[in-house]
Amino acid sequence: MLRADPLRIALLAALALLTGWVWWRVFAPPPVLRVTVLDVGQGDSLVIQTPGGRVLIVDAGRAMGEDDVGRRVVLPFLRAQGINRVDALLLTHADDDHVGGAATLLERITIDRLLVSAVPSDAPLYRRILQAARRRSIPILSLARGQTLDFHDGVIAEILNPPPEGPPGREHPDNNASLVLRLRYGSTALLLTGDAEREAEKDMLRAGADLRADVLKVGHHGSLTSSSERFLEAVRPRVALLSAGRGNPFGHPHRDILARLAARRIRVFRTDRDGAIALVSDGRALKTRVMSDE
Ligand SMILES: [Zn+2]
Repeated sequence: MLRADPLRIALLAALALLTGWVWWRVFAPPPVLRVTVLDVGQGDSLVIQTPGGRVLIVDAGRAMGEDDVGRRVVLPFLRAQGINRVDALLLTHADDDHVGGAATLLERITIDRLLVSAVPSDAPLYRRILQAARRRSIPILSLARGQTLDFHDGVIAEILNPPPEGPPGREHPDNNASLVLRLRYGSTALLLTGDAEREAEKDMLRAGADLRADVLKVGHHGSLTSSSERFLEAVRPRVALLSAGRGNPFGHPHRDILARLAARRIRVFRTDRDGAIALVSDGRALKTRVMSDE
């Protein structure tokens, strides 16, 4: 007859635990930071998923009459990822091609907070979104240079623009008020620039901000008004991400900007050609994958 020897059972249990732990350490996927640039046509929307499971949405694309990118693209992506709660929706600035889907997102999923540029805007759609957030008692936090968002899992976002004293110049105040984020995880960094233009770039350089990043989300959809040579020199990215609509009427991305990136041997991914773009960082290396790979 088998006897249940307590010592033996304890030893076997300890061995099973140890085996499980070793197995987990060796074979479990490492925690990663995942940044997806969604294919939203002309506009921007990015979803950031941190190793600790936090979710930050940066911009929400544009509205198209009764429909919008939030409903058509962002929500289906979140559902496919099993996300039904978002830590923060960050609107880089007030332009319609960045905030058009925000009202749908506020309505359809739980969003813990709304993060906006410290530079106010009177853009009508943007104001309606802020009102909708207030009605839902969603806290609205204004951000400016010098602040950081700590996700408490190794990921930190430094805010590099706008300056706390106001917009960095008079030209295109909404674009230049864009929140610029330098997202760091381990030794990897991504720079997300919204629609920041030359004036904001110059101001960040003047402020002595550390702009170095492996990946640059190119400012203002690749418009000629952004991505100055001095700025690219300070960022020194290996990879550039461009979000622009197929055959858009603005001619984004501008061919001179593409030539500027090519001259620096920066690998370019663009949503109008590649579809959605996913970046994954394990804190040491970054991998890029596009929808057309699948
Ligand atoms: Zn834009």
